[in-house]
Amino acid sequence: MSSMDLTGKIAVVTGASSGLGAHFAQVLGRAGAQVCLIARSTDKLKTVTEELAAQGISADCYAGDVTDRSALEAAFADIANTHGGTDILVNNAGIARTAPYLDMDEADWSAVLDTDLAGVWRCGQIAARQMVQRDSGGSIINIASILGQVVQPTQTNYAAAKAGVLHMTKAMARELGRHNIRVNAIAPGYFQTEINADFFASDAGAKMINKLFPRRLGALHELNGPLLLLASDAGSFMTGTTLTVDGGATLAGI
Ligand code: NAD
Repeated sequence: MSSMDLTGKIAVVTGASSGLGAHFAQVLGRAGAQVCLIARSTDKLKTVTEELAAQGISADCYAGDVTDRSALEAAFADIANTHGGTDILVNNAGIARTAPYLDMDEADWSAVLDTDLAGVWRCGQIAARQMVQRDSGGSIINIASILGQVVQPTQTNYAAAKAGVLHMTKAMARELGRHNIRVNAIAPGYFQTEINADFFASDAGAKMINKLFPRRLGALHELNGPLLLLASDAGSFMTGTTLTVDGGATLAGI
């Protein structure tokens, strides 16, 4: 377990004000990292940092929209000034805008691609430039989705963005390897969070859970091991990989 210890590491999580991101912050913090949270609004983030502080986790928050390069550059510069730099980046921020392919409009297409795909490219580049400048190496973890591997109706934008993240993870890993920066992805199956709570509360959502293999949603703690493996020295020979964490849903063809 000591190789999963993150004491002394600076871990940045985007989209950390809710769901998977808030959970990842807690897991990284419990493993000893100083956690830096980025989200569009720092109001919600403050609540998350207070909850983390109550558990003895050192966390601070920064405003940053992953579609806004200058805001992100300012956030990463603040992190570098306060903590020295970034060792671990979890590219977690993401949105979904569902609509049948024939009805989807340009705004829904662009918003999802700009947040879920370009946001990962943008944040990863800013963090990686800092890592290269410090010659510190690092670990970048891109949160994709099984919908980057298999498809469901009404998600052409999301599926395209997440498939892009999986392939871009390999491309980033290929270029950043010589700087000792590892880049990997996690492709979660279905976990209940704000992004899908309305759907899973609906009849269609309940039917879908019933059809899923293994007939349940994932629990957030089931992402802890994969996250810590990729973030820490335990995964020191892993780069360009995707860990699918879906209880077998893709095997069964969701
Ligand atoms: P969520 O809606 O609870 O969290 C998404 C977070 O991203 C929110 O905090 C939101 O404010 C933030 N965000 C959105 N747009 C942003 C922007 N432009 N700049 C900065 N932050 C922004 O949803 P979640 O389920 O926790 O999703 C987290 C990630 O996990 C997403 O990338 C999502 O695609 C992925 N994912 C989730 C599931 C699931 O079942 N919940 C499955 C597969 C993948």
